[in-house]
This record gives sequence, structure tokens and C-alpha cells, in this order.
Amino acid sequence: MRLADLAPRYDLVVIGGGITGAGIFREAARAGVSVLLVEARDFASGTSSWSSKLVHGGLRYLQTGEWRLTAESVRERQRLLREAPDLVERLDFLLPCYRGVKPSRGLVRLGLWLYDRFARDAAARSQSLDVTASLAITPQLATHNLLGALQYQDARTDDCRLVWRLIEQGQRDGGTALNYVRAAQLLQAQGRICGAALCDAETGDTREIEATVVINASGVWAESLQGQGIAAPKLRPLRGSHLVYPHARLPLPCAVSFFHPRDRRPVFAYPWQGATLIGTTDLDHREDLWSPRMTKPEADYLLEAFDWLMPGVGLKLDEALSSFAGVRAIIDEGEGRPSSASRESAQWTAPGFIGITGGKLTTFRVTARQVLAEAARQLPALRLVSNDAPLFDQPRQESPSLAPTAQQVGLRATEQVRHLDDLLLRRSRAGLVLPDFGEALIEPALAACRTALAWGGARCAAEAAQYRAHMRQQHTVPGSN
Ligand SMILES: Cc1cc2nc3c(=O)[nH]c(=O)nc-3n(C[C@H](O)[C@H](O)[C@H](O)COP(=O)(O)OP(=O)(O)OC[C@H]3O[C@@H](n4cnc5c(N)ncnc54)[C@H](O)[C@@H]3O)c2cc1C
Repeated sequence: MRLADLAPRYDLVVIGGGITGAGIFREAARAGVSVLLVEARDFASGTSSWSSKLVHGGLRYLQTGEWRLTAESVRERQRLLREAPDLVERLDFLLPCYRGVKPSRGLVRLGLWLYDRFARDAAARSQSLDVTASLAITPQLATHNLLGALQYQDARTDDCRLVWRLIEQGQRDGGTALNYVRAAQLLQAQGRICGAALCDAETGDTREIEATVVINASGVWAESLQGQGIAAPKLRPLRGSHLVYPHARLPLPCAVSFFHPRDRRPVFAYPWQGATLIGTTDLDHREDLWSPRMTKPEADYLLEAFDWLMPGVGLKLDEALSSFAGVRAIIDEGEGRPSSASRESAQWTAPGFIGITGGKLTTFRVTARQVLAEAARQLPALRLVSNDAPLFDQPRQESPSLAPTAQQVGLRATEQVRHLDDLLLRRSRAGLVLPDFGEALIEPALAACRTALAWGGARCAAEAAQYRAHMRQQHTVPGSN
């Protein structure tokens, strides 16, 4: 379906196909209203593909006093583990403790005690391990001053996959979602927002669509869609970057989390899709929002942490498979330390309009319901389903921890793919976790696109060239060539 096929009006138009927009879309589609979602590029191509992929309470938010957010996140984690086991998987964490290193073991234990209380899950209780037990799990740990470790549980996901499955489920329930369609402007009449002017990013076609309520869920881009009477909060974009290593180079059986020796920020490594993910950084992003990249100082910062924790491993930058960076939409509260800035979401309203930005991947369902409860005031036909209603019809044969395969890539070519990077970087994460940016899967992916999307030889060649150029530009490991 493209612009010309759309109805002239919808009850709701959602702008932005990241986790926030996708969650709203999914809940709206089963709430008795007509809903259209538009995404300027591919679904999840903004911040929602570049998160740390943890469905977690966020132990560190306890450090900054964000109790409510942590408790809510832990509850949502538990729910997603139950309802979407194919998308969200339990992940054991090991937090090594060293004599004289802050925060102390006692303080972290207190945080974990609270964490356990929030989860109310006896099977997910944290525990203390002695030195022998810690080294049996992670023999790479530095042993000098090692006191043991704390073991606790959180969960991992594939952020892109989560977004896509919400979009897909929403479409199955009657919603319409278009990728590569940008909202160019909000439409206004008689003092209220009454729709949006849309533009097909590829053909340049434009169309005005009317709506009772327009929801701006465009993440770090939220400020760019303004209208009379709309007071969007000022955002402070903060970049976080990750490195991806071959699993064989850092073979961890579980996640390892610890405090960076330089600034005591939490950093981590964990097994993901057949590779090992290392993250993350947190600093002001003043460059282009559409193409954030990891810098050399960020990569050095992460390796410095792992040299300290696992000095025998000797990780080198040029051994990494790829890097990626994402930008958090943080509400600007001044120039404090980036890591201390609140991760809460912000919502703002005007007649016919709701804006929502910030927050976490983990709490998308709660955010969606809050936004739609606000929308229902302006759209009485909108009736949220019970809070207990499961998110998805049924689980699939998927797992966020398994490496991508040619067969998987082939099957996903029908998932509203428009370009090769949609398939190799988002429907599957082959480009990030396989050698040479997933070069071995390019041919199978193109073969699938030839069949599913009728791509000819010239189109395939152009897509492959564009994909390789994009990967070199955005995902090369800094300083490795
Ligand atoms: C480094 C990092 C690590 C993180 N780790 C975690 C984690 O482990 N766990 C967790 O819970 N959270 C994590 N987060 C937070 C989480 O990733 C974000 O809160 C979430 O992805 C934001 O989703 P969003 O939908 O609001 O924004 P986005 O994903 O950016 O979506 C907004 C979308 O709007 C589109 N758009 C913009 N303008 C327009 C327009 N005019 N018309 C149409 N579409 C438009 C964009 O293309 C984009 O796709 C992390 C964030 C970062 C940066």
C-alpha cells in the first residue's frame, strides 16, 4: 500500500515507527478506532535499532533515584518474558565486585534486593557468589582484589524485531502502517491540529490526511514538527555507542556488568545473536541526528573498561565486527552529567494533538496506554482493551540470541522490506553480527528480494552497492582501518 491507497481520514495518525509509535499503533489498532502510522525511513531505523537491547529495570536508575521508572520497568520485563518469549529472553548478569572499588558490594546488593522485590519472581532472585564460583562462570576476570560477584537477572531482545512484530500485529488487527513516508507538516484548522501532510520519501508524492488526533512519536526529531499552541519540550540528544565482537573473541556465557574505572558508569558485555555486544557510552550528541556514529574516543573508553576487568583478554579494536551508535531523546534539564539525566518520557498536548518522546524501550506498552488514554479524551470511540490482554496473538519460532541465517533472511523479505538494509540490518541483524557486515548473506538476501519484490538485476546491483556503502560509513569500527 502507498500514499494514494490511503483513506482520506483516520481517527488517529501516528508519526514515527520506532518502539513508541509501534506500541501506540499496536494498542490503537485493537481499541476500536482507525489508525495510520507513518515512518519517514524504515520501521525502527531511528533510536529503536541502536539501543543496548536490554529489557531491564535498569539498576543504574536506582543510583539516580528513579525508583518509579525502575519498578515499572521490572514489571514490564516480567510481563514481556511471559507474553513474548520469542522476542524477550531471560539473561543472567554477573556483576564482579572488587575491594576498594565503588559502589561497594553492600550498596549494589541493596539495589538488587529492591530489584528482586519489584520483580516478585522467586526464580529471578539475585545472589552473591564467592571468588571460585565467579571465576568458574567468567574465568577472564581480573583476580587481584576480587571479592566475588553478584548474580541477577534481566532480559535481552532484538529491538528492531520487537518494533516490527508490534507493527505487524497492529496491521493484523486492522491498522495501516507505511514506511518511507514522512510527515512533512501538521495540518491546522479552527485552532486544532486536524491531520498531517505526508510525503513519500521515494517518489516525492504528497498527500494530506485528516485525523481526529495526531500523535507525534518521532523520538529525537519530535521538536521538528511544530504547530500553533504546541509546546514541545526542549531535548538534549545524548549518544550511546556499542561494539560488536565475534563470540569466540569474548566467549561469555552470560552478561557481565561493572562500573567503568574512569567514571564509575555501568558498562556491560553480553552474548547476542551469536556475537558479543559491548556497551555503552553516554555523551552529548551535537552532530546530525540521522546518522550517529561511534567515535574513536568512545571505542577507547569501552576497551579501557574491559582491559581493566579482563586484562588477559587483550581485546583489540580491529577485531570487532562492527560498531553502532544511537541517540537518546532526553528532556533538557541543563548541563548536568549525561548519565544523571532522567530517562523518563515526556508528553505534551494541544487540541487534536499529543506529543510523546524519551523513555525506554522496556516500558513501551505502558507509554502507549498512557498516550492513548489521553487520546481517548479527544476521541471517545477509543476504548483501550484490558490491561491484561496479551500483546501478541501467539509466539513464533524466533529468538533474540540466535545468529542470523540465510533461511531467516529469505523468509523476512516479505516484511515490508523496501531496501536491502531493511532486510540485512533490521528485519535481521546480519550486518552487525556476521563477518564483513554479513557479506555472505547478501546474495541469498537479493535472491529472496528478486522473488518476493520482483527486483531485477540492476536494482539488485544498486541495492548491494548502497548497502555496502552504508555499512562502511555508519558501522565501521573507529580507528580499525
Ligand atoms: C545507546 C542507547 C541504549 C539504549 N538502551 C536501552 C535498553 O537497553 N533498554 C531500554 O529499555 N531502552 C534503551 N534505550 C532507550 C530506547 O532505545 C529509546 O527510548 C527508544 O528506542 C525510543 O524510541 P522512539 O520510538 O521514541 O524513538 P525512535 O526509535 O527514534 O523512533 C522515532 C521514529 O520517528 C521517525 N521520524 C522522525 N521524523 C519523522 C517524520 N517527520 N515523519 C515520520 N517519521 C518520522 C524516525 O525515523 C524514527 O524511526 C537506549 C537508547 C540508546 C540511545
